[in-house]
Amino acid sequence: MNTKIARFVAEQQPATPCLIVDLDVVEENYRTLEAALPEALIYYAIKANPAPAILTLVAGLGGSFDCASVPEIEMALAAGATPDRISYGNTIKKKADVARAFQLGVRLFAFDCEAELAKIGEVAPGSRVFCRILTSGEGAEWPLSRKFGCDLAMAKDLLRRARDFGVVPWGVSFHVGSQQKDPGQWDGPIAEVARLFRELEEEGVVLGMINLGGGFPTRYRTAILGPAVYGRAIHASLVRHFGNNMPVAIIEPGRGLVGDAGVIHTEVVLVSRKSANDDKRWVYLDIGKFGGLAESMDEAIQYPIHSERTGAEEPVIIAGPTCDSADVIYERCDYRLPADLQIGDRLEIRSTGAYTTTYSAVAFNGFAPLASYYV
Ligand SMILES: *Cc1c(COP(=O)(O)O)cnc(C)c1O
Repeated sequence: MNTKIARFVAEQQPATPCLIVDLDVVEENYRTLEAALPEALIYYAIKANPAPAILTLVAGLGGSFDCASVPEIEMALAAGATPDRISYGNTIKKKADVARAFQLGVRLFAFDCEAELAKIGEVAPGSRVFCRILTSGEGAEWPLSRKFGCDLAMAKDLLRRARDFGVVPWGVSFHVGSQQKDPGQWDGPIAEVARLFRELEEEGVVLGMINLGGGFPTRYRTAILGPAVYGRAIHASLVRHFGNNMPVAIIEPGRGLVGDAGVIHTEVVLVSRKSANDDKRWVYLDIGKFGGLAESMDEAIQYPIHSERTGAEEPVIIAGPTCDSADVIYERCDYRLPADLQIGDRLEIRSTGAYTTTYSAVAFNGFAPLASYYV
């Protein structure tokens, strides 16, 4: 229960559904992560929640930004970041967008194949580039494997030849998968990257940066380990594999900075059963998969849902309000709500600060995009 958010809701009585984010929690998360891994620069992954209030806060705290598109770069600049604090971290970019980013002053770009490296060389000459390598995604509740990254042999070959494309080989990145519950998952990739650094150095290619990606988890229905545990594990891996030849390290937290800072307020639209002796109630909310809860896909991310009622909890199937049968939020993973739940009740869907507002459809079935407030 967040008292600042509760006070805002009591005073403003915003219409549901809406997300309310406590900026103090974002700041606290930032400072905690910074203290947990002091040797790493923080590049906030804007896609997790691009609200100007969050970007301004992060910029003011000295943070940098991981951007996936030109509009995200423009948002970071508008929030006060200088171009040297921006990484164009998407491995899939139109050449015109690389050119535009270069024009805006960005000089740090990701790639994971030769064609992308060639694009960057052509329209962003002299920039620093880093190669993303594949990871397994093991241990993550929202894996980012397969689509991004190349294998180590290809990374080595491309970094070795990067100067031929007119760019500066600067480092290697990976992402262990989002909502990564195992702090040990960074060790394998860090070992591989360190070996790659040594092998390339023997060939005269000296790299300077390791990008450790995101993956830092938010507390949902089940417990997670704290940032300090992640920091210790990653620090130990960096020391073990790089020794006293430590590169610049950067992390790109998204979920871990904003996830637990937000709460969605939603209204119960309907409570029903499909037959007289149906043992589960269906609870339909005014938000669903298309209204911002897309990460409930396959019930991967399980948000805590809270009712103020005190009746005994009974099993429910929770669904959204749209006319699409895919818009069932939780059916298999044992959600329970009070037996005295009523139509018109408000519920809190907690830890919804990340990957919600921007995942909401513009007007599917006529429903407005998810409203949000930053307090
Ligand atoms: C999405 C993304 C992130 C953020 O991941 P989280 O798990 O939310 O911290 C970081 N880096 C890149 C390249 C990403 O695509």
